[in-house]
Amino acid sequence: MKKETKLGGQLKKIVQEGKLVSDDIVTELLKKRFKDRKLSEQGFMLDGYPRTKTQAEILDGILKNTKQSIDFVLNMEASLPVIIQRLGGRRVCRKCGAVFHVQNKPPQKEGVCDVCGGELYQRPDDNEATIKTRMEVYTKNTNPVVDYYKKQKKLLNVDANQESILLRDELIKVFDEHEKNNKNKVKR
Ligand SMILES: [Zn+2]
Repeated sequence: MKKETKLGGQLKKIVQEGKLVSDDIVTELLKKRFKDRKLSEQGFMLDGYPRTKTQAEILDGILKNTKQSIDFVLNMEASLPVIIQRLGGRRVCRKCGAVFHVQNKPPQKEGVCDVCGGELYQRPDDNEATIKTRMEVYTKNTNPVVDYYKKQKKLLNVDANQESILLRDELIKVFDEHEKNNKNKVKR
């Protein structure tokens, strides 16, 4: 979107309407990205993808072709009021992309980025009506994804209603335990 390519223009319109990007577009982006061999060496995290069972199957296919696989899936669960409070108060820097929150993480000076002094703005899809639409679409599409990874024994549920620092600590624990398990596997 930033580079203002043709694909970026299509994405921008979809995002602003609070809709989800089509599978064809995301698949195209993923295939390009997974050609990079560094990804399999360093590891990677996908944020907010896959959101449908079809996408999960597409992703497994792409990964299989490049001899990679998903280690685990984090399902962060939060209630609708909590989500509306968080997204509704979110402010993003136009210049550097830093993220703030009017209550949870306010900038030192209202409307100004602490990092670079740029202007803070509210993403057009962060209003309550669009958030509700996004959540309805999310819930409908995501339940089958949760089942998909549960069957693969890769699903980890995390309570995301808790404060960000507590949630952060819990996530760090999850990653540490996973790393330990991985090392054990290599030793064996
Ligand atoms: Zn900034």
